[in-house]
Amino acid sequence: MFQLPKLEFEYNALEPYIDARTMEIHYTKHHQTYVDNLNAVVEKYPDIASLSIQELLTTVMTTAIPDTDKLKIKNFGGGHANHSFFWSILGNKKIPNQVLIKRITESFDSLDNFKNLFTQHALSLFGSGWVWLVENKEKALEIYTLPNQDSPYLQGHTPLLGLDLWEHAYYLTYQNKRKDYVANWWNILTELP
Ligand code: MN
Repeated sequence: MFQLPKLEFEYNALEPYIDARTMEIHYTKHHQTYVDNLNAVVEKYPDIASLSIQELLTTVMTTAIPDTDKLKIKNFGGGHANHSFFWSILGNKKIPNQVLIKRITESFDSLDNFKNLFTQHALSLFGSGWVWLVENKEKALEIYTLPNQDSPYLQGHTPLLGLDLWEHAYYLTYQNKRKDYVANWWNILTELP
């Protein structure tokens, strides 16, 4: 059975950039629902129920389970993986760390250029989804958006940074102003030079 990971910070720890009520609802309602719905599907398949969420998402599309349940695992499992990763980023505030910053600088010329590209992708996404920095199968860094709760693990990529662009992530504070939410997200990553 999958479980909600322990949150390593208080709901109000990210204010004023992410408000406490948004954090509480996001974690206790949205994320919990992904976990509950995921468990309801995988309990039908003992062979995959014991996989890690990363293993599950990396392999699910090629397993011999019905397409309707594959889709549920993609959505709910992606929701669980994405949010668990997001909390870990917001919790330690040390991502990107120095090693990652070096790789980002090498891949995108400069940290500022990377932040601009990442922001452009975030603002270009239509509807709900996430913007990702990933390591692809060739071990190269890539920035892209994915719709809904699609996880980079589905295509064998490793997420290095991810930002939730669903309105539930920012609406109470920012309403329609996704641009301000994205700009303020950089302020949470306090270790950035
Ligand atoms: Mn979310």
